[in-house]
Amino acid sequence: MNDERLNRNEMFFGKDGQDRIRATTCAVVGVGGLGTQVVQQLSLLGIGALRLIDSEEADTTNRNRYIGLRHDDPVPGFRKVDLGERLVKGIDPTIQVEKVFDSFVSEAGFAAIRSADWIFGCLDCEGARLILTELCSAYGRPYFDLATDINPQVTPPAYGGRVCVSQEGYNCLVCLDVLDVEEAARDLEGEAERRNREAIYGVARAAMGRSGPSVVSINGVIASIAVTEFMVAVTGLRKPNGISTYYGHNGKVTVSMDSPRQNCWYCSLWEQGSKADVERHLRNGIGKVLR
Ligand SMILES: [Zn+2]
Repeated sequence: MNDERLNRNEMFFGKDGQDRIRATTCAVVGVGGLGTQVVQQLSLLGIGALRLIDSEEADTTNRNRYIGLRHDDPVPGFRKVDLGERLVKGIDPTIQVEKVFDSFVSEAGFAAIRSADWIFGCLDCEGARLILTELCSAYGRPYFDLATDINPQVTPPAYGGRVCVSQEGYNCLVCLDVLDVEEAARDLEGEAERRNREAIYGVARAAMGRSGPSVVSINGVIASIAVTEFMVAVTGLRKPNGISTYYGHNGKVTVSMDSPRQNCWYCSLWEQGSKADVERHLRNGIGKVLR
């Protein structure tokens, strides 16, 4: 393709940098409020190939924030991966797109992730984050985890998010203490365990959080930080930061210098491949619980 459209990129990070981006395949896990922004930006940045993974269809409440979702798209009945593909192809039809209309915890999902160089997790479930962390570590893939958080219950309201970059087997969501391991365990429990726990402790607040507030501009900040960290890493401008946190209510972005905890089990799986047996999550059917 005539890449004149990318001239302004090249004025920043050079033709070499642009060629490196073009030679890269990214997987985007979750093509929603964060994922559609990431897909749009990667396409404009001149990525070569994308794997889009999402098991859901768009619904009416997504219309406040999904990039590219039109007022007349059929809802229900419109798959988020199809939305992502249309977004990509509208920008550059030469970008190769593979779609997985299923949980990423599926044979096709795992294969799509293993076939990508860099992984973007645009998820709203701690359990899914934990499995994706394990998968990316086992197969030696750098992993960008994106999250937003809006809490209207405090005064004044708090809102923002963060991007965590795990790579090279020495830092991940778990050893950086970014992931709520108890919430992840709740996400990954079976139906019988869940009923039992709820009978004793009641319904966890976090379990209700997925239909909470979500707005386009906060997603946009987090997606932009993630894609910028990707861009600087791939083009060699600098190493990506470990954790970037956006405090929207203060108008600030900070970069964490915290060291990861030592002896992290998830990091110890780095590049172990099938020996790490992440595939056990396929055998136990957890993908059906996660959706
Ligand atoms: Zn770790």
